[in-house]
Amino acid sequence: MIGTLFIFSAPSGAGKTSLVKALLETTGYIGVSVSNTTRAPRPGEEDGKDYHFTAVEDFQRMVSEGAFLEHAQVFDNYYGTSQGWVESELSDGRDVILEIDWQGAEQVRRLMPDTVSVFIAPPSIEALRERLQKRGQDGEEIIERRMRDARNEMSHYGEYDYLIINDNFDNTVEELRSIIIARRHRLEAQQERHKDTLKNLLGE
Ligand code: 5GP
Repeated sequence: MIGTLFIFSAPSGAGKTSLVKALLETTGYIGVSVSNTTRAPRPGEEDGKDYHFTAVEDFQRMVSEGAFLEHAQVFDNYYGTSQGWVESELSDGRDVILEIDWQGAEQVRRLMPDTVSVFIAPPSIEALRERLQKRGQDGEEIIERRMRDARNEMSHYGEYDYLIINDNFDNTVEELRSIIIARRHRLEAQQERHKDTLKNLLGE
């Protein structure tokens, strides 16, 4: 039984991290991949939980060893998804979420065409700016840079299977949840999961 790989992409400030947290509380088991990054931890971030914070040389060594399913440069830092962890979760039948940018999404889709990809957008450009400012972790110059990067990220929404506008937190969680639940009920998955029930129903 193979699990499903979900990709969630969003510009930073669209609320993805808190959405995923709420989603995990209501959707049954689903694993979230912890990426490696060369960026410095933000206040409150924990190594091994939010990211595996990795030195640039170590990151480059991991790239050359083929440790990543995908990797990309986002802003001025490198980010990568561990191939080993994702593959072992999927082959054990568990669903996995990757929170990655459009470049990573493109690489993963090419390698694993069954991936379900979801783009989460903020309700307006003003809302996005407000969220980035409220976060209070970055200076004005960085915020402007993040706004430009967000526009670039959002220009790729058309490459995704699903588009969600995060204008109401609870609705958005419900919409994300319904994508996962629908996917879990696809015929092939259900046939495998309910083999015995189907035999019983058909008198086989
Ligand atoms: P942040 O530094 O704000 O946590 O994340 C910045 C951007 O990097 C976000 O768009 C996020 O989705 C993306 N990102 C985080 N982890 C990965 C990863 O493993 N691979 C790729 N390609 N992008 C990632």
